[in-house]
Amino acid sequence: MGRSSIERGLMLASVSGDFAPDLPLGLRNDRVLALRERLAGPVLEALASCPACGSTLECTLGTDLLRAAAVPLDGTATLGDFEVEYRLPNSLDLAYALRFASAVEAAEALARRCVIRAWQGDREISAEALPTGTLEALGDHLDQIDPAAVPSLGLTCSDCGHAWTALFDVADFVWRELAVAARRALLEVHELARAYGWTEGEVLRLSPTRRKLYLGMVRA
Ligand SMILES: [Zn+2]
Repeated sequence: MGRSSIERGLMLASVSGDFAPDLPLGLRNDRVLALRERLAGPVLEALASCPACGSTLECTLGTDLLRAAAVPLDGTATLGDFEVEYRLPNSLDLAYALRFASAVEAAEALARRCVIRAWQGDREISAEALPTGTLEALGDHLDQIDPAAVPSLGLTCSDCGHAWTALFDVADFVWRELAVAARRALLEVHELARAYGWTEGEVLRLSPTRRKLYLGMVRA
């Protein structure tokens, strides 16, 4: 708690082994989803609200839909007159992009930051010399190369038929789920500790089945 969304993402990705902040976001999300699968299985129940009528939609999706295939660390792309050698955005880039007030500015700064080298024809140019349109195209290209970085879901409202694309924040979703589970665990410790005089450690060492049975007896 009290950590930024980027720190939270990195913490979740590091649970089953070190995860470097300079690795692509798709890989980070992949690690977060692997953790989620281990803790609660591969089915996610998410809520989305329709931007047209405000209805709440329940969507069920499998982690396999969101997990990264193989994400390259870098690559090159031809964008109009420009040739760009780039690397994939990572957690540090995301932290950098957060300082910009507008989403458009942030996206442009993020794309520019991921340029390793750029050429116009035979002439090498600096990342600063790339026009806005090219940076926009580079941003789209990066999304295609690492779709797991910010997965987008095509949704249709069952009430009004409106169709839209929603962005799914993997780390935020898993963090919220864990926060709910942690709160529930604390309440259960509280109930059982009070009823039986057990310590926190003793309650947490009970298997989930035994904990449930004791809770049932306390609440009966
Ligand atoms: Zn709707």
